[in-house]
Amino acid sequence: MMNMSNSLVWFRRDLRAFDHAALHRALTTSNCVYCVFVYDRDILDPLPRDDRRVRFIHASIASLDAELRRLGAYLIVRQGRPLDVIPALAAELEADAVLVGSDYEPDAVERDARMNARLEADGRKFFSLKDQVIFEKEEVLTLAKGPFSVFTPYKNAWLKRLAAMPETLASYPVDQYADAFAPPPGPPALPSLEELGFEPGEPPLPAGMEGAEELFERFVGHIADYGRARDFPSENCTSRLSTHLRFGTTSIRHLVRTAQQMVVTGAGGPGASVWLSELIWRDFYSMILARNPHVVTRSFKPAFDALAWESGEEADALFAAWCEGRTGYPLVDAAMAQLNQTGFMHNRLRMVTASFLTKDLGIDWRRGERYFALKLNDYELASNNGGWQWAASTGCDAQPWFRIFNPVSQSLRFDGQGEFIREWVPALERLGAKEIHAPWLVGDAVLAEKGVVLGRDYPLPVVEHDQARKKTLERFSVVKKAV
Ligand code: FAD
Repeated sequence: MMNMSNSLVWFRRDLRAFDHAALHRALTTSNCVYCVFVYDRDILDPLPRDDRRVRFIHASIASLDAELRRLGAYLIVRQGRPLDVIPALAAELEADAVLVGSDYEPDAVERDARMNARLEADGRKFFSLKDQVIFEKEEVLTLAKGPFSVFTPYKNAWLKRLAAMPETLASYPVDQYADAFAPPPGPPALPSLEELGFEPGEPPLPAGMEGAEELFERFVGHIADYGRARDFPSENCTSRLSTHLRFGTTSIRHLVRTAQQMVVTGAGGPGASVWLSELIWRDFYSMILARNPHVVTRSFKPAFDALAWESGEEADALFAAWCEGRTGYPLVDAAMAQLNQTGFMHNRLRMVTASFLTKDLGIDWRRGERYFALKLNDYELASNNGGWQWAASTGCDAQPWFRIFNPVSQSLRFDGQGEFIREWVPALERLGAKEIHAPWLVGDAVLAEKGVVLGRDYPLPVVEHDQARKKTLERFSVVKKAV
């Protein structure tokens, strides 16, 4: 790569100042490095004014600026459309190049192609570097050099490639090259949430690099038990790092390095390799999206586009009941309450609620996917789309369409004592472990004793599972021959 006098690092999904591909490249090839973050008004304007992700980003930007200042640098923060802001700033700073971490979402790919063209027209370079995944779209292929569409062989090939190329996990150091940073022109002048047009408020989880590290250290302390406990929402044993991975306040290489060492040394017990697998799922879905951008609006498997989902007023009312946690199925309602109130939902419950929407209510997965996109702190197009298409049986390596989760059995199995339900559905808090999973099967007298009247304090089930199941099997019969 050429040697540059000035360069500009544009932060997007990589809000940290360590192990950072674009920063490292800029610092090692330029005399003077500037850093910028752009609050993209096209993304911010449609969001609710109390959006939790904006609070998370806002707090993480403050933490990034503070860390850059510790290194003798600073963060330029702008608002607007990146396609206007970045070329103008690059001109103002006389930057020879703009460097970014690659983003594989179709809209981002298109924006970056336009950015590249615009910068090139001004005589500047645009460098996009792999940073948010271990292996990107073309890097893990089948023996026939094609893409994988099934996870387990992908994972085996991924692990094999990593064993052959351990340098993939090497860190991209920043601090030792800090001399190349442009020094701050004055004290921090970051916009407040109000100045950005949002209500003030705390982020939904500890933000910034230190927030990520705090969560990771806590998680590593009990990673050994992850394989057993990860399916039980009330045990709250997962890492909660998804939002940090989404915004790059932690480094995927740092997490994989640590997990892999724990696998090799045995220090992470059986849980470390299960957790490593989950991180590989993230790479898998990123690759699926990058290679199959049609999944954003259509089924991964085209035959499933023939499915006729429920529509009309009744479907709209059922969808509203699902969104608001009023389905009458306690585990589903508890999960939706967790999502609505915190912006997080446990993985098992994402599978249960997505299955319920598509298989019990017969509603198009795209509606549920959009609702999750609006609410999830960790919303990421690739994993969300992959998870929804898995649950709806329309995706790659998906749940077979004839295997339909029973929401009561899932509840008995994964929240046996009803602890999670009690935490999120206060109306049912006095019900015992035998009653709480299907309150409509409990006699009125027992319910009355516990202060619950169905239809008043808690809804009756909006559908009957066995009937819904039959309907779903019929619905999917149109694709029977195609799979
Ligand atoms: P941990 O169990 O600690 O896992 C560690 C990390 O591995 C996660 O942070 C995540 O980055 C990755 N990971 C774990 N499971 C998966 C998976 N199935 N697919 C891809 N990556 C995974 N994850 C998102 O990050 N954003 C989403 O928008 C999202 N939407 C989902 C929608 C549905 C319907 C389903 C079934 C799953 C979805 N997931 C999504 C995957 C998973 O539920 C979350 O990553 C996980 O619950 C986050 O909690 P954690 O960080 O404690 O995970």
